[in-house]
Amino acid sequence: MKFLPSCHDVQMDLTEYTEGALPVSKRIGIWVHLRYCRACSGFLRGMHALSGLGKMLLAAPTQAPESAEKLLAQVQEAIRKQA
Ligand SMILES: [Zn+2]
Repeated sequence: MKFLPSCHDVQMDLTEYTEGALPVSKRIGIWVHLRYCRACSGFLRGMHALSGLGKMLLAAPTQAPESAEKLLAQVQEAIRKQA
């Protein structure tokens, strides 16, 4: 089961992500991806620089579902296994 978006997926969805137009399940995947992926977080920062919305959008989601922490643990586990 694929629960994390790829870099390509993230960058395709980033505009909608910054607009808050994505469903929560997708937003979490992107948010987690941005925590560990320098390429995509750099891409996002570039977008912020252009839009001037950086301050607001760099903040973590204010109402992360309880499952976000669990998801993050799963992601860290998956990254550990890959390394
Ligand atoms: Zn990425």
